[in-house]
Amino acid sequence: PEAITVQELANRMAERSVDVIKLLMQQGQMAKINDILDADTAELIATELGHTVKRVSDADVEEGLYDLPADDKAEDLTPRPPVVTIMGHVDHGKTSLLDAIREANVVSGEAGGITQHIGAYQVEKNGQKITFLDTPGHEAFTAMRARGAQATDIAILVVAADDGVMPQTIESIKHAKAAGVPIIVAINKIDKHEADPNRVRTELLQHEVFVESMGGEVLDVEVSAKTHQGLDKLLETVLLQAEVLELKANVDGRAEGLVIEAKLDRGRGAVATVLVQRGSLHVGDIVVAGTEWARVRALINDKGEQVKSALPSTPVEVLGFSGVPNAGDRFSVVETEARAREVTEYRQRAIREKTAGGGATSLEQMMNQLK
Ligand code: GDP
Ligand code: MG
Repeated sequence: PEAITVQELANRMAERSVDVIKLLMQQGQMAKINDILDADTAELIATELGHTVKRVSDADVEEGLYDLPADDKAEDLTPRPPVVTIMGHVDHGKTSLLDAIREANVVSGEAGGITQHIGAYQVEKNGQKITFLDTPGHEAFTAMRARGAQATDIAILVVAADDGVMPQTIESIKHAKAAGVPIIVAINKIDKHEADPNRVRTELLQHEVFVESMGGEVLDVEVSAKTHQGLDKLLETVLLQAEVLELKANVDGRAEGLVIEAKLDRGRGAVATVLVQRGSLHVGDIVVAGTEWARVRALINDKGEQVKSALPSTPVEVLGFSGVPNAGDRFSVVETEARAREVTEYRQRAIREKTAGGGATSLEQMMNQLK
């Protein structure tokens, strides 16, 4: 059911199917007009053609069951921390690098200084915050994007200096490019005597990633997750890239964002880690995420501390959900419990009906079924 034909995809985007087929060919996939594409491919193509895949159906909006994001005025925007994802080939050191950055930036002895694993964490460098999504691998990245949920501002592409560019490196590059997310190359395992960072730089050229020393603009840093060499420089590079991006958000108003992780916790019930992308999330707010809702009972930060509110780019655990939402669901604060019930019940019903009704007929229906 999580599929759409070439024709339908083209129709939904008001693009010519021949252009969709052409793009697919460029991706190395031969397709005819009635061939079925999986959700990831469809989303990749849609993004390549400059479309944003909407998570909500038109019906949601028409029936007033979904609040479209407020149009923020420039003067209401203030700088926010960058949100970073680590991508790359298996065994090139994604997890090690995430752990090393986290460890290196936990102040020992500080109250609550031990970071909790909540699916994301924040570090501070030169007085500025950086948010890392703790979901390495491009699967997580694409799963979220398939729901039209862009979470990442910057992708760190980890390439092991003793192994070079590998299939998942290339995949990662494609996904980051399709999403329009700038890449910082972390040439890892530089401590190894077989390390050949220049080979990595040269190999990247073939995939149109031009690092500075090769005459391009992509920033690269030599690191070792093992010895922690280069980690400071990597964080400084992230801040440099973030400055160029001029990342901003409105901190006022009802919060919106993304569910990064969710689970059923024995003692605490349904717990969701969310990334606030706009506004401020407060204890007591009523939140709708996909088919579930919550009156926020508690907010817990990445250090395990209870907090009263969370600002844009902040990851935070939300307690109080009626059920477990899905990673990749968007969340938004609504005014009343009645409204939260109305929206989630409508969505649950819509999903039941579509599932009963057979195959998806539009991209939006497909996206809904994915939720
Ligand atoms: P992932 O699959 O990309 O998450 O890779 P991991 O972080 O699991 O690392 C794969 C292997 O490489 C593990 O055995 C790590 O200990 C090792 N490794 C990761 N980073 C480094 C590094 O900087 N230097 C060395 N020597 N080994 C590393
Ligand atoms: Mg790993």
